[in-house]
Amino acid sequence: MSDSIEFTPLATSDPLDNEANDEPITTARKPRPSTLDSFAAQIDRLADSTIGYLGPVLLLTAFVLLSITIFCFFTVYLPFHYSWTEGTGFFGNWAYILHLSWSLYLVWGIIANYYYAVRTPPGGILDGVSSTGDAMFQDVLQEIETYTEFPPTCKRCHLPKPERTHHCSVCKRCVLKYDHHCPWIHNCVGHFNHRFFLMFLTYLSIACVYFVIMGAGPFLFAADTESEKEWPYLMDRAVVAFSEVLAVAIGVAVGGMAVWHWYLALSAQTTLEQYNNAYIKKICKKRGETFTNMYSFGIAGNFMDIFNIGPRGHYPWYTALLPLPIPPIGNGKRFERSGRGYVLDFGQEDEDMV
Ligand SMILES: [Zn+2]
Ligand SMILES: [Zn+2]
Repeated sequence: MSDSIEFTPLATSDPLDNEANDEPITTARKPRPSTLDSFAAQIDRLADSTIGYLGPVLLLTAFVLLSITIFCFFTVYLPFHYSWTEGTGFFGNWAYILHLSWSLYLVWGIIANYYYAVRTPPGGILDGVSSTGDAMFQDVLQEIETYTEFPPTCKRCHLPKPERTHHCSVCKRCVLKYDHHCPWIHNCVGHFNHRFFLMFLTYLSIACVYFVIMGAGPFLFAADTESEKEWPYLMDRAVVAFSEVLAVAIGVAVGGMAVWHWYLALSAQTTLEQYNNAYIKKICKKRGETFTNMYSFGIAGNFMDIFNIGPRGHYPWYTALLPLPIPPIGNGKRFERSGRGYVLDFGQEDEDMV
């Protein structure tokens, strides 16, 4: 029994774009299908533009909430437990120094990764293409055709799409190794900012756990308004209590997302691919076969790929622990494969998924 199941193999690895194979590649604009003008399509467009407009509001919200909680930690939580004792030197203050260093490292991890996730373009089809007009189209096509015989064409951008590329209807462009559009970073999560998004979730989740533990004492103190003890901190009691409750809520929500995205990253799947792979897996199971993901090099291999370390990477292992703007492996248009890939022929028109 073979390890992988043989479906109708297509020249492209992009099973979500089945219209691609029978669609001639052309630069000429075609009239939009009438279905796009349907009520559902209008709702979709409204939702997309709302997400687009919501982006800056959510960025500001994230900035304000992060500022409040960081300020709360350094002016209330840390001094509640530890403070610098004069005259005892480094060894007399080791616990304070340890917590200060750890919390500063977490703040660096959160702020830097959030900034990189927001500011790094996720990657587009025209990256590295300097020509314009028809020449531009030919350049892109030539580049992709060196490794894909019949590249699919995006119905909206009218450009040939590299493998794992999908169109984002919020950003109105195709994104390399598209994962999803995240309104909280006002950006798509794609090939070039995926690591930063994942590490932002990771640092934020760890920080929430630490914050909630460190905040238990101050929270009870802040909540005990009948206490005879004076409140000695700069920040108001109510804001301190709010910060603790906020950290619990964010920790649960972001922690869940972090676990999900780590599962996807360690199994070398994007959010979109996961839906498709889950469907193929189900069919494989029925046939008693095992589905293998052609982009997966095992958990350890995928882990090293995320951080651009290991045999295929270009950076030393310890950079995985540092929130630095390290680029991913490859240009996002071509991906190394662990084996032959198979995709299902759904036999029906399938809209770009976003
Ligand atoms: Zn597109
Ligand atoms: Zn987008």
